[in-house]
Amino acid sequence: QAKQQGRSQYQFYSPEINAQLQERLVLENELRGAVERNEILVYYQPLIDLHTRQVVALEALVRWQHPTHGLVSPAKFIPIAEANGLIVPIGEWVLRTACAQNRAWQLAGISPIRISVNLSARQFEQPNLVEVVRQILEETGLEPSYLELEVTESFLMSDIQRSVQILQQLRELGICLALDDFGTGYSSLNYLKRLPINMLKIDRSFVQDVTSNPDSAAVTDAIIALAKSLRLNITAEGVETQDQLDYLQIRGCDEGQGFYFSRPVPVDTITQMLKESSRQSDRSLVHTCTIS
Ligand code: C2E
Ligand code: MG
Ligand code: MG
Ligand code: MG
Repeated sequence: QAKQQGRSQYQFYSPEINAQLQERLVLENELRGAVERNEILVYYQPLIDLHTRQVVALEALVRWQHPTHGLVSPAKFIPIAEANGLIVPIGEWVLRTACAQNRAWQLAGISPIRISVNLSARQFEQPNLVEVVRQILEETGLEPSYLELEVTESFLMSDIQRSVQILQQLRELGICLALDDFGTGYSSLNYLKRLPINMLKIDRSFVQDVTSNPDSAAVTDAIIALAKSLRLNITAEGVETQDQLDYLQIRGCDEGQGFYFSRPVPVDTITQMLKESSRQSDRSLVHTCTIS
């Protein structure tokens, strides 16, 4: 049978693919217990209000501090964790850590900001997701309006009826919801209007060449217009240059995130940044997802 399938079957056993599989298996094994061994960390990247230029939110981005490989990027281990289900305890740990940290910043007198946490498909499938989120908010004492969860179209669309229901329940807790990587998935506008979300995040792939590629510019303009007509907030991810920032600001984008402002950084670094900007900023500003 394998012989009949010819070349493609043969390729499966090539040494390169074998090595990749091997590496994946090793990582998969090592990922077990990584939370317990304190190898999982959260980095934070600021989101800037493009009208006031203040930090209004932070996205929590998971990292794996591997004992020998150093910092492993989520692009490498999230797919593995998704496949074997480890993303559920890891994701829950990230959520708890980020909420507790945000509460600690507030108690330390830093101007309140939102904390944004990515949710994976596997977490979204858990029947107790809403209860877990509610419990973490209660445990950490974080006011729900200072938590935002990021979801993607791809996993919402697999069962739209249920997705709307879960998102509705999450909204009822008082938290904010953002649609991440917007424009890359398969967005049916008919579904979009039914989703109880607060925010669209324009995917980095459009922002990256928004000033040089007319197609990316057209998509970006269309997403901003769509967000405005649906009364959704709009964030651009992957802002790297002043030109991109100018473009987005002129089009009325609300928030920006990207290396132009800051890379994702460890907790101590972001705490220093927040303390400095807190000292300069107007404390009466409240940074939740409510559209003003
Ligand atoms: P994402 O949620 O779309 O997060 C934004 C990613 O874009 C981050 O990559 C961030 O470092 C990167 N980024 C931000 N600004 C720029 C920029 O100006 N230029 C470039 N080149 N990149 C920029 P990161 O941290 O490697 O995370 C990759 C993805 O892994 C995330 O994409 C998200 O889908 C996933 N991820 C990260 N943390 C978690 C988590 O706690 N749970 C789950 N389920 N997924 C996570
Ligand atoms: Mg995200
Ligand atoms: Mg994103
Ligand atoms: Mg992205």
